[in-house]
Amino acid sequence: MKLTKREVLGAMATVPLAASCATTGTARAPDTIVVGAGVFGAWTAEMLRRTGRKVELVDAWGPAHARASSGGESRLTRAGYGTSRRYSEMAAESLEEWKRLSKDQDLPLFHNAGVLVFFDQESEYATGSYQTMRALNLRTERIEPEELRRRWPQIDWSGVKFALLENDFGALMARRSVATLVEQFVRNGGTYRKAAILPPKGGERLDSLQTAAGETLYAGEFVFACGPWLGKLFPEVIGKRLFVTKQEIFFFRPQAGDTRYSMPAMPGWIDFFGETVMYGFPDLESRGFKVANDVHGAYVDPDTNDRLTDATSLAQVRAYLGQRFPGLKDAPLSETRVCQYENSSNGDLLIDRHPQWANALLVGMGSGHGFKHGPAVGKAAAKLLQSPSAEAEPIFRLAGKAEKHDRFVH
Ligand SMILES: Cc1cc2nc3c(=O)[nH]c(=O)nc-3n(C[C@H](O)[C@H](O)[C@H](O)COP(=O)(O)OP(=O)(O)OC[C@H]3O[C@@H](n4cnc5c(N)ncnc54)[C@H](O)[C@@H]3O)c2cc1C
Repeated sequence: MKLTKREVLGAMATVPLAASCATTGTARAPDTIVVGAGVFGAWTAEMLRRTGRKVELVDAWGPAHARASSGGESRLTRAGYGTSRRYSEMAAESLEEWKRLSKDQDLPLFHNAGVLVFFDQESEYATGSYQTMRALNLRTERIEPEELRRRWPQIDWSGVKFALLENDFGALMARRSVATLVEQFVRNGGTYRKAAILPPKGGERLDSLQTAAGETLYAGEFVFACGPWLGKLFPEVIGKRLFVTKQEIFFFRPQAGDTRYSMPAMPGWIDFFGETVMYGFPDLESRGFKVANDVHGAYVDPDTNDRLTDATSLAQVRAYLGQRFPGLKDAPLSETRVCQYENSSNGDLLIDRHPQWANALLVGMGSGHGFKHGPAVGKAAAKLLQSPSAEAEPIFRLAGKAEKHDRFVH
């Protein structure tokens, strides 16, 4: 069935007809069911489809819907990860897939804005990022304060010792990207269904899922990429190892006609100072200059939290904005968004088998940095599912996820 963009954006309400026959007994069941059409589930479904499997993607609300972690406007993609070379490689490998996906679209999925990372001191993280990116042949410039002032006079560089510019990276249009990917997945033979999956039950193997509407969905393999909801499906296995935090995003309106805060004058940026990490985007597609505090917020339930920002968070961001970007000091707020990080204890992602069912994978814990890695996560998950005797890569194992929230990977 050909799927139009209109159907994707309409949360695909019209698609499941063909899919429901496929899984409830009247036609061949899919080889694999992927639960969760956020960035991880969508790319995992796509990578599994490319192996020749018949794949069904299921979501309770729709691809990158408003409360999914992938449902935001924009996400940074960058490769600097200190000495964690695996994440740098994943970001670089993923960027090629994002660019391919973006290439033939009417509206861009990727803006090559560049990403400028400010550091207030020399650190292992900064040196490691620079060396790793150079070793991977990723264009990176180390820029000293004098040149920073010359190239970006609209930024107040007080306290910044140097910055790293990742020239080939930038911004992914998050919701649009996932919707486009799911559209292409279905166009190329995958199926999509809107259904809420109940916490799975099984013996030695998992052979089916129950939906809240009372259907039974059969498949040979299962992937659960349920983002912040993963703990609700697997309270025993995941519950205490997932830390879902409230994250707030603010968009500010530059002065009419002011080009200093848009591309190409302004790249994406991250500001490491003291214990704080602020980050943001240029005025992408005229939605406003985005600023967010990366510090983890209060624990929230993705089903019940109202998406309202706090006055204290806004005051903090405004104070920061006025100091670092003086030309935006009195800029009015044009939009706010509330989303959630689905954190592991240390920030490492989860791509592992369910401890009881070898034919089921658990994929998630994007921890505030996962979006960019979607294609590489999908590839790693597909590889694990294809090799029944293989173990998960050590950093992605469930066993490494503790019950104490103590972020390490940025
Ligand atoms: C504010 C914010 C800023 C971020 N910034 C960046 C950034 O700059 N760069 C970056 O790389 N990453 C960033 N991230 C992180 C990244 O966006 C997330 O890690 C990533 O989107 C997580 O994707 P996911 O597929 O795991 O989860 P989700 O997108 O939440 O998808 C999970 C899906 O599972 C579905 N689901 C759950 N339970 C069920 C069920 N029982 N039945 C059926 N479906 C179900 C949900 O409906 C949902 O659609 C940011 C995150 C936030 C919140």
